[in-house]
Amino acid sequence: MLLKCKYLAQLSLNELKSNSINSLKLQSKCPFLSVVKRALHTEINNAVNSKSDTSDYTSNEEKQFNYENYFNNKIESKKKDGSYRYFKKITRHAKPFPLVQETNEVEEKKQVTIWCSNDYLGLGRHPYVQSKVIEAVNDYGVGSGGTRNISGSTPLHYRLENELAKLHDKESALLFTSCYVANDTTLYTLAKMLPNCQILSDSGNHASMIQGIRNSGIPKRIFKHNDYDHLESILKEMPLNIPKIVAFESVHSMDGSICDMDKMCDITHKYGGISYVDEVHAVGLYGHNGAGIGERDSVLNKIDIITGTLGKAFGNIGGYIAGSSNLIDMIRSYGSGFIFTTSLPPSVVAGSLAALEIIKSDEGRQLREIHQLYANIVKTELKKAGLPVMDGPSHIVPVLVGNNQQAGEICNRLMNEYNIYIQSINYTTVARGTERLRIVPNPHHTPEMINKLVHSLIDVWLKVGLELKA
Ligand code: PLP
Repeated sequence: MLLKCKYLAQLSLNELKSNSINSLKLQSKCPFLSVVKRALHTEINNAVNSKSDTSDYTSNEEKQFNYENYFNNKIESKKKDGSYRYFKKITRHAKPFPLVQETNEVEEKKQVTIWCSNDYLGLGRHPYVQSKVIEAVNDYGVGSGGTRNISGSTPLHYRLENELAKLHDKESALLFTSCYVANDTTLYTLAKMLPNCQILSDSGNHASMIQGIRNSGIPKRIFKHNDYDHLESILKEMPLNIPKIVAFESVHSMDGSICDMDKMCDITHKYGGISYVDEVHAVGLYGHNGAGIGERDSVLNKIDIITGTLGKAFGNIGGYIAGSSNLIDMIRSYGSGFIFTTSLPPSVVAGSLAALEIIKSDEGRQLREIHQLYANIVKTELKKAGLPVMDGPSHIVPVLVGNNQQAGEICNRLMNEYNIYIQSINYTTVARGTERLRIVPNPHHTPEMINKLVHSLIDVWLKVGLELKA
């Protein structure tokens, strides 16, 4: 990996270890740095685990590896480089969503408005969804009782798979315990099984796809985010007859961009590839029936493998893939992350079925309309105020801060001074220097809440020493 990039090839692993890789002065030069950085982390971590370094953690007296020292050291290095993750303590309420309760460090509780929930349509607290979950718990108990192979395949599981396949106009669908697991398992399994397979991965792809691709160990090429020409130029270099998987997201989770799916799929097919599309941030939110960007752009037939989540717009938990019957049956038969884990509980499946009913209905269409409207209003108002909104066509509203300290301080101040919860997005989720606030409007926010958000954000923006654009 190191040698593939001419800029990074100049550095030895030791240099990389002694410099934090984030402080390398390569950012402007290397077009693939964010991807390379992730790979470097693995390499560096591997190196730290190597024999020569175990001595740092071995005491003279006991001559045994000191695990606690090692763990502590790893945590401290994250705290030092600012990538340590602090979670806020938040309790969601079923009734007054998007109001939630925050419990601070001294266990004081207060009500705050949440602006960063991926329960995009509020279906996680929809009375119909709740009633179906409760009914299922009463009827079937709590757990599923096993893997799909051993007593965990209920009629509800099959029903949801059929409904999801229909939604995406595919022959079959398969449930997973999360879309992280769906992506990891499916990409790993496909990549390992398809003979001489190569993967082309968008540079902005989610960690779950990267993990599956990396674990498979097959040759991969990274193309610049939503850069069709770059994708095509790489595909052109590959033999036409080998299997190729082109993996990308429709709505990008962190910058809110939307790919031109038609173009992406056409290029993929022209060179004999199959399209693997993560619609996690689009299912439930785009298209007449809520099937995502593929449906909105009338290109469902061009997606070979779609992956979605039941944890965001569906308001539940779980993930799925949909595609041809053969493909789905192959993953069902060979995918370790599908086979060897307890299946989703019936209550979650029933909740997801109920959410899907709403998503496909007029109520769903209305929720999507308000969702988009509010996202546009928030974007427009923040931009008008001079805040650096990262322009994108989706419901995700990222505001660029550019460093983790200020991003964190803005969020803390919003919480402490204005009872507003927004989460800052820091390295390693995004590249250094692109730390941001990720605001996600919801149809259940009110115009008053939007107004308060805009004014509060302007105030704390200035308080932390940032400037508004003229
Ligand atoms: N794909 C993308 C683009 C995501 O943002 C996420 C989660 O945030 C996932 C996949 C994983 O989905 P899940 O939360 O169902 O594991």
